[in-house]
Amino acid sequence: MRWSERQATMLQEMGIRCWFPAPPSQEEADRTPLPLAERGVGGAHAALRSVDAAPAQVEVALGDVAGLGWNALREAVVACTACGLCKGRRQTVFGIGHQRAHWMIVGEAPGEQEDIQGEPFVGKSGQLLDNMLRAIGLGRAELQGVDADAAAARQVYIANTIKCRPPGNRNPEPDELARCEPFLIRQLQLVQPKIILAMGRFAVQSLLRSSEPIGRLRGRVHQYQGVPLIVTYHPAYLLRNPEEKAKAWDDLCLAVATAR
Ligand code: URA
Repeated sequence: MRWSERQATMLQEMGIRCWFPAPPSQEEADRTPLPLAERGVGGAHAALRSVDAAPAQVEVALGDVAGLGWNALREAVVACTACGLCKGRRQTVFGIGHQRAHWMIVGEAPGEQEDIQGEPFVGKSGQLLDNMLRAIGLGRAELQGVDADAAAARQVYIANTIKCRPPGNRNPEPDELARCEPFLIRQLQLVQPKIILAMGRFAVQSLLRSSEPIGRLRGRVHQYQGVPLIVTYHPAYLLRNPEEKAKAWDDLCLAVATAR
């Protein structure tokens, strides 16, 4: 893999020290397609259409979110009182990004800044996430002046496993995870991503039904309903353990290679 100047800068921002081969000339760079413009993880869309609705243990007062479109789903999240987290929230945190993004990023739960702003990953871990995404040519912001396919390839969709902030940023409880899960499942069905990046143990628990440590799950390609899923460390963990950033970078590289 060769790094552009922009990627090298982002890697440095992530705190990753790499050996960089000479950057490509402008002419060479212009000839090189954006990595994520190359697509082709076959079968993902078809597979996601058959995702089941909420698992049995979440026959909750959420009603049936399985058939909801984006607007109705967002309204259902805003109105949700299925668990006690609704009492402490300023607002729900639904998700952000391209509604048919090729990449879907799944985090854990909103923190204080997310609760204030209503958008996932806007605090310190969000800044790191944005840097990580930028390093592989992706971002959350809407892109102007690109065609629809390029937009879906380069603008990610970001959602959390839990849509309301747990008090004091405590870990989500199993019942809260279960009650919120149908919303995430429906978001996955609507986006129909080609690749999923699961960040942290609660995303992994929800999507892979695994309680194995991240360190044991990362480094290989998992499947969620036929869609490739890469497990990686949560950005908040990386902020506390910067020495692990190199592994997160490896995870991103695996995801890029898989998405291709
Ligand atoms: N951590 C998450 O997992 N999600 C957020 O939105 C913010 C921090």
